[in-house]
Amino acid sequence: MNASICSIKTPAKINIRLKVTGLRPDGYHELVSIMVPVELFDILLLQIADRGRIKISCKGFEVPTDRNNLIHAAVRSFETKAGIRYGVSVKLTKNIPVAAGLGGGSSDAAATLLALNRLYGNPLSEQVLHGLAVKIGADVPFFLNPRPSLATGIGDFLQPLSIWPEYWYVIVTPPIRVSTSWVYENLKLELTTGEYDYIVNALKNEPFVISRILENDLEKVTSASFPVIQTLKKLLKDAGAEGALMSGSGPSVFGLFSSREKAVSAKSSVMSMNVGDVFMVRGKGI
Ligand code: ATP
Repeated sequence: MNASICSIKTPAKINIRLKVTGLRPDGYHELVSIMVPVELFDILLLQIADRGRIKISCKGFEVPTDRNNLIHAAVRSFETKAGIRYGVSVKLTKNIPVAAGLGGGSSDAAATLLALNRLYGNPLSEQVLHGLAVKIGADVPFFLNPRPSLATGIGDFLQPLSIWPEYWYVIVTPPIRVSTSWVYENLKLELTTGEYDYIVNALKNEPFVISRILENDLEKVTSASFPVIQTLKKLLKDAGAEGALMSGSGPSVFGLFSSREKAVSAKSSVMSMNVGDVFMVRGKGI
């Protein structure tokens, strides 16, 4: 073992586009999505413990600290694969809103795998970590190497997008939690075909037109029950966003800005409306 303590910060993600393209026999949906990490971070402090126990404590947004936390699943799967039985204590600072479409649980799980691998001197290869990650959740592999990516498969096949520009994002999370499985259960499948080619061509286009890309198939489902989603999109556009969309299964909505100044002014006008948590964050290119 190299050291017994490791601190790691791990980002939220937003989906710039999310199109459902298939349903697999095992119930997982296939999709084509552009996923971008943003500078809103959870922080994990992991310390190896010698009694084989997993102890999770949390400050910030509230999440379960028992075996229902994805960190727990990540520790167990890492230890089993690496043949280790020490146990670990994890102090989580939860800055990413929960069940909000920002991938926070998946991000924590991936960070746990990375941190444990580092602590134990890299016993597992990237490929093996990827295999463990996808078993924990479809979004987890993205966070092993978070960078703007085109995700296909169930979201686990990732191609880095070197041309994705830096943007500033204002993210609004209204005070409701949305279950991802509920959204998929209520999705009326109108499977998109030709989506991969569409997106690849749209990304090649010069000049790059963001409005041709912003689309989320899950938005219809979530906004049918939570009309606030459409209200927030309008607020962000009225505040100067180049475009606005719901992320993942929601309810978070983001607006895109090409300059920090415009994002700062939009953030303050949206904050004055008291509609939920508001974050202004950068999303870097590669
Ligand atoms: P996605 O965008 O991938 O659908 P999400 O951002 O909507 O995910 P999460 O914040 O990951 O959702 O939370 C989803 C569920 O996972 C919640 O019910 C939460 O209680 C549970 N959960 C387990 N572990 C964690 C964790 N470490 N952080 C956040 N949620 C967790």
